[in-house]
Amino acid sequence: MRPTIGLDGAALRANVRAFAALGAPVAAVVKNDGYNWGAGKIVREIDALVESYVVADEDEFWALRVSTRKPVRLLGDVAPGRIAALLAHGAVPNVSTRAGIDAARGAVVRVGIIDAAGWSGIAARDAGEFARACAAAGVAVELWSHITSAERCAQIEAAFDVSVAAFRAAGVRVVSTDLASTGWSTRSRARDRLRVGAGLFGARLGSAVQTSCALRVIAPAVRWFAADSVSWCGYGNVAVPKYRGVQVLRCGYGDGLPKMLAGADDILSVGMQYTARLADAPSEAHTLIGLTTDLDALATRAGMTPHEIVVGLAQR
Ligand SMILES: *Cc1c(COP(=O)(O)O)cnc(C)c1O
Repeated sequence: MRPTIGLDGAALRANVRAFAALGAPVAAVVKNDGYNWGAGKIVREIDALVESYVVADEDEFWALRVSTRKPVRLLGDVAPGRIAALLAHGAVPNVSTRAGIDAARGAVVRVGIIDAAGWSGIAARDAGEFARACAAAGVAVELWSHITSAERCAQIEAAFDVSVAAFRAAGVRVVSTDLASTGWSTRSRARDRLRVGAGLFGARLGSAVQTSCALRVIAPAVRWFAADSVSWCGYGNVAVPKYRGVQVLRCGYGDGLPKMLAGADDILSVGMQYTARLADAPSEAHTLIGLTTDLDALATRAGMTPHEIVVGLAQR
């Protein structure tokens, strides 16, 4: 007996549409093999609705290339010698070195602006010089940054805009700009596309986009009992109130259910395979995570981030 853990394709699609309703196309971020759920599986559900995909590196690009014909954008740099092959297969590679620019002669590449593209970007103060090298090589750019902090949000956006202006001033064709992930998806920050990862699964991360949970965790019930006096249940000293029913479910932290959910809502305890919850009547199964689950609230209760909940529930 095992819990049914999966993704609801209709909910994934509704979430893509909810982000697109802000007025910018959605680039689905499917790094880390689609947040552990399988990039190919996610592509099959949403390919018709997204503008493009975003992956971390070249390995992820080739793995995804067989699943979609849409453009795939890379976050990290690749060796300059690999750029031509990537371009030939519809990738938009990221470039942060002069050798990279030379290898991409005449093509469109991505250039990330630090500070929030720190692993593969250029500093805003170097934008002018880098832009002149792009102009000399006939390279057009998609400029991007990554808002990662509420405190420095305005600063990151301002440095980004200064860099965009520097590229234009150097005569470089700026094909597009993007800087918002799930939590920063607003109409004004949408620019030319949104890069949405956790939001596909229904996490809000502070944004006001009306998404819903696409994760499904349905646990079979293995037993039910009524507590006619105060009794103890599960691990540690979990008291069951008098005259309440207890349902034992086959789903636990071994399945990715956060152990720290014990004590939240109706959950009494979470073990490796079994979870006990208060339930006044027996049933065949219980939906632990479904369409109406608030993933952000769930993450808060579990002392985790929504990203950790999403990747942790994927079946390995
Ligand atoms: C992971 C990542 C995203 C997506 O972030 P979510 O919070 O999952 O939407 C967007 N942009 C960059 C640069 C990333 O690394």
